[in-house]
Amino acid sequence: MPFKDEIITAVDRLTSTLITASRFLHLHPELAYEERESAQHLTALLKAHDFDVIQGVGGLPTAFVAKVGVEHPSAAIAFLAEYDALPSLGHACGHNLIAASSVGAALALQPLLPALGGQILVIGCPAEEKGGGKIALVKAGLFTNVDAVLLVHPSNRTEIFKSALAMRALRVEFFGKASHAAAAPHLGINALDAVVLAFTHLNALRQQLRDDARIHGIITDGGRAPNIIPDYAAARFCIRALDLDYLHDLHRRVIACFEAAAQATGATVAVQEEGEQYHPMECNRALGALFRANLEALGEPVEQTPEDEETGSTDVGNVSQVVPTIHPTIALTNHVDVVCHSAAFAQAAGGPDGDRTVLTAAKALAMTAIDLFTDPAVRRQVQEEFEQRLSRRFSIG
Ligand SMILES: [Zn+2]
Ligand SMILES: [Zn+2]
Repeated sequence: MPFKDEIITAVDRLTSTLITASRFLHLHPELAYEERESAQHLTALLKAHDFDVIQGVGGLPTAFVAKVGVEHPSAAIAFLAEYDALPSLGHACGHNLIAASSVGAALALQPLLPALGGQILVIGCPAEEKGGGKIALVKAGLFTNVDAVLLVHPSNRTEIFKSALAMRALRVEFFGKASHAAAAPHLGINALDAVVLAFTHLNALRQQLRDDARIHGIITDGGRAPNIIPDYAAARFCIRALDLDYLHDLHRRVIACFEAAAQATGATVAVQEEGEQYHPMECNRALGALFRANLEALGEPVEQTPEDEETGSTDVGNVSQVVPTIHPTIALTNHVDVVCHSAAFAQAAGGPDGDRTVLTAAKALAMTAIDLFTDPAVRRQVQEEFEQRLSRRFSIG
């Protein structure tokens, strides 16, 4: 296909630019919401290629939208760039590769857009690892006129479809009464005991959960000294499930565990929701099939393990609820035990394995955009699937 051959040539020509971007981000790891140098590097690159760039969108200083293409497009396709790193591990989730490959796809497509009649966006999405930056961007309406969203995440496997769990995060505080732990224990109310009981109740609850559900947490405050009955104790928990109905049901049951712990100890309890609610991933099958064919045409073997296994949560899930979206993965190395959030993964993301992943991902992303731009029937199929799933969700309630 002529356009796709041009894409492959264009990405190959961009090799040093894309690898420079990927490695710059890798050498300057920045945490969620603090990705100033990373956003600066990416927006400077896009501006240098005549993209219209708006920085600080959706109320997030390190978010951006870069747009290029015709005025009234047949379709607008957004590639998402992530670029936040992890505390102490650097780019152990390989978000430098997501950023460089999404920018690479956009730069490769740019010269073809007048002929294709399309529009391309690169949406810079801060804070995937903490806080869920994309949720703010969805709320700000950034995806309103977008027809499809694509990004590739590096992983230990090359897979097209993976579920992501809906998630709510809670902070629970118990307020008791301090007293001498030996001389006057009968005058105290032990807030730490309430936290310990909360864990015990949740452990009992866990036995009765569906396989996809997860509840996990840590104690953040457990008292100041062993000879003082703790008057304050606190913990943080995450609740996850494959669908929002079950997630909200679990949330009610978790709150009941906290309240029971408070009642048993005489402490009072306060619960706060932390951050935004992550929604489950809705993988667009039609879009995924296109991506898979392109990846295989590039010689990248695809495997597909069960979609619901070994999943976490991502704010791409929230995007997938408002636009047809895919979030496939490409194996960063040949070793299946080199997994995200490990030191080995961080190292590979800054070396030749990472460079190769950027180029393959950029090509497959741009080739999939070519499929959408050149075939209205394919665009309709993607949109119809999205609308059908949407109406099924609403009819379930
Ligand atoms: Zn991660
Ligand atoms: Zn990640």
